[in-house]
Amino acid sequence: MWQPFTEEHQHFRKMVRDFAEKELAPHAEEWEESGCFPSSVFRRAGELGIHGAHYPVAHGGSGGDYWFSVVKGEEYPRCNSAGVTMGLLVQSDMATPVISDLGTDEQIEEFLKPALSGEKVAALGISEPEAGSDVAGIKTVAKQDGDDFVLNGQKTFITNGARADFVTLLAKTNPEQGAYGCTFFLVPTDLDGYSVSRTLKKVGNKSSDTAELFLEDVRIPKRYQLGEDNQGFMYLMQNFQTERLIGCVSALQGAFYALEFSADYGRDRVAFGKPIIKRELWRHRFVDMHIRAESAKAFVYKCVDAYNSERHVDKGPVSMETVKLISMAKVLVGDVVSEVMDMCLQFHGGWGYIEEYPIARAWRDARLFRIGGGTSETMKYYIAKLLNL
Ligand SMILES: Cc1cc2nc3c(=O)[nH]c(=O)nc-3n(C[C@H](O)[C@H](O)[C@H](O)COP(=O)(O)OP(=O)(O)OC[C@H]3O[C@@H](n4cnc5c(N)ncnc54)[C@H](O)[C@@H]3O)c2cc1C
Repeated sequence: MWQPFTEEHQHFRKMVRDFAEKELAPHAEEWEESGCFPSSVFRRAGELGIHGAHYPVAHGGSGGDYWFSVVKGEEYPRCNSAGVTMGLLVQSDMATPVISDLGTDEQIEEFLKPALSGEKVAALGISEPEAGSDVAGIKTVAKQDGDDFVLNGQKTFITNGARADFVTLLAKTNPEQGAYGCTFFLVPTDLDGYSVSRTLKKVGNKSSDTAELFLEDVRIPKRYQLGEDNQGFMYLMQNFQTERLIGCVSALQGAFYALEFSADYGRDRVAFGKPIIKRELWRHRFVDMHIRAESAKAFVYKCVDAYNSERHVDKGPVSMETVKLISMAKVLVGDVVSEVMDMCLQFHGGWGYIEEYPIARAWRDARLFRIGGGTSETMKYYIAKLLNL
């Protein structure tokens, strides 16, 4: 059977699993209630070499392939809090890949290396109050002024945004040109004019901070521009592929984990003289969900394999065929995960609706996956275009 994981990946898996189960899971409840896991978690993951496992050594990573990132995405969900998983994945797989791809030596030293070591917290600033799915509609503007850029605008829904040390941020440098007028910048958060206007209260992922950011005449030197003028949208489309792929991996593994702990629950819970997991109806429902989840996993692995060879090994852009497959995977995983979580909650009966059991949180948290990083509808909009429909 095709097996992408080597012994090295398996050692790494054990280390990430221990980290998630022993160092994170015991605090899940406390962090949900406080509304934010501590920044020391970023540092600890950095010390263990988790953030940078799939980055080049010269960028502060360990030089592994993309399957290391997959291992991480599969093991983090054992921390029992999708908010923590999300915050950590934004740090290593959403706000930073574009720096590794495009960054100058100075940008790698100043931003990427400290992010991979966990000393600096990173956020990705794309969405705005009036532009989420339709990124080309962003209104934040970066205007060149001598050797500086001056930024004005607003970002919302920004994960890690309340305590980020820098934001990998997309702004318009040529507002008339829509998608062809966007440029990426690295924006330190301690500059005059930068503020966190509010932290958003969410339905789920409560242990991760999600913020609204305000930029009023924020002046940054030109050396903080990332990549070429007006190419930001194209870079973002590449960055979206890794964001969506790692999202698929971790959301799906969260579903497998929910099937595992729900089955355990059903072994102990007796109704009408029998453990509920022994009822044929439920056994078949579990089987159906395992079949759905395994099929989705096979499809996600196909996407990872394509992504790993095109992007990670060959260092080229992701092909449109792979973009199409990853977009499809995001829709499929969104549906499968929602079905699994809903079934597992139902299986718990009334206890499924009570916070004491992990399924309540897993069910709430999983709902985000059909929205964040591109909604299922937007994915279908792109897939239809790519299918020439
Ligand atoms: C908890 C959380 C964390 C997030 N983290 C980040 C982050 O770190 N950084 C960041 O930049 N963003 C982040 N986001 C933003 C997220 O990516 C956006 O919410 C998402 O892309 C959808 O954009 P929107 O909310 O503006 O919805 P809208 O674009 O307003 O969409 C509203 C509805 O219209 C539908 N729709 C839109 N276009 C089409 C179409 N062409 N065809 C059919 N239907 C369509 C959508 O599917 C949706 O149902 C986060 C969001 C949340 C909730």
